[in-house]
Amino acid sequence: MNRIIIKLGAALSIFAALSFSVKKDTVDVAAHSAKLHQSIISMDTHTDTVMEMYRGKDVSKLQVNLDKMRKGGMDAVFFAAYVGQGRRDDSTLLAKTEYAKAMISNFKDYAQKHSDEIGIAYTASDVRKLKKAGKLIGIMAIENGYALGKDISNVQMFYDMGVRYITLSHNNNNDICDAAVTQDNPKRGFRKGPEWHGLSPFGVKVVEEMNRLGIIIDISHTSAETVQDCLEHSKAPIIASHSCCAAIKNHARNLTDQQIKDIAAAGGLIQVTTYHGFMADSEAKADIKCYCDHVEHVRDLVGVEHVGFGSDFDGGGGFNGCNDASEIQNITMELIRRGWSDRDIKLFWGENVLRVMGEVERVARNLR
Ligand SMILES: [Zn+2]
Repeated sequence: MNRIIIKLGAALSIFAALSFSVKKDTVDVAAHSAKLHQSIISMDTHTDTVMEMYRGKDVSKLQVNLDKMRKGGMDAVFFAAYVGQGRRDDSTLLAKTEYAKAMISNFKDYAQKHSDEIGIAYTASDVRKLKKAGKLIGIMAIENGYALGKDISNVQMFYDMGVRYITLSHNNNNDICDAAVTQDNPKRGFRKGPEWHGLSPFGVKVVEEMNRLGIIIDISHTSAETVQDCLEHSKAPIIASHSCCAAIKNHARNLTDQQIKDIAAAGGLIQVTTYHGFMADSEAKADIKCYCDHVEHVRDLVGVEHVGFGSDFDGGGGFNGCNDASEIQNITMELIRRGWSDRDIKLFWGENVLRVMGEVERVARNLR
């Protein structure tokens, strides 16, 4: 009996020591992460938050809001005005352009009302200045070039409103290019399969105008042929603002290893997204480890200089362990546990995006 108690006692003390060391590891890693996020710039290249705000959803319930950004140490968010693909007749196109303008104006008014907390950035150096001033940062974007209609002057109009990337398509083809995911739906004017085999002639002009003004070309949602055409026509690096790796989860929205190599060779970025359907076969398998596996797959293929974070929060993104902007440090902690250096974590969270923003600005200066 006594011996059993002694054995049990020894077992318990080993267990206690083990759980203490696990706790200590967690405390150390959490402290390391918190300290790191004070100095680095963390950026999220894709959210649909402005759409939800425009629809009047309670801001406190959104996956991205000022409180959650502060809590998570998320400094700068690209706020994309999402325009769902629809019919392509002239009056619908004009209405969609107005809808995108209204979403952007609504968010800029909100930022103005909270200007003591958040500022809008138009350049990479604005992002750094706002971080130094202790402010949160918003950068405007558009998800779906459908918002441009067929009018090339809308590229400049949206640039003047602050838009710094445009995702060329959403699901289904538009007047700019073919999409990765298409369906037959005559009522909405959709046809499955390629329409342009990449960029349309108007799409080529849009890419050139985006280069001239300094708007990043985003190929998330576009077809493989569109990605190839963008790489051929763009003079500046291009990005996938919210995509995962097809080598881990085979999905039309994810990027093949060859696409990842081609985008990186042109100086661009693969911003790994948090939507479970692009991460894994089941929602249960989409966890922090799975997310970091996608990140490390890109890193191992093309280097840490070409990977980052694009959540798709408030648009379907988020998984158990990283469900809103306040939980992003669970990713940092996992990367620390995997042996990532502070330098590499800093590149992943923001410096890569700032490099590409700077490069796109430089190309625009040279073209104007
Ligand atoms: Zn999307």
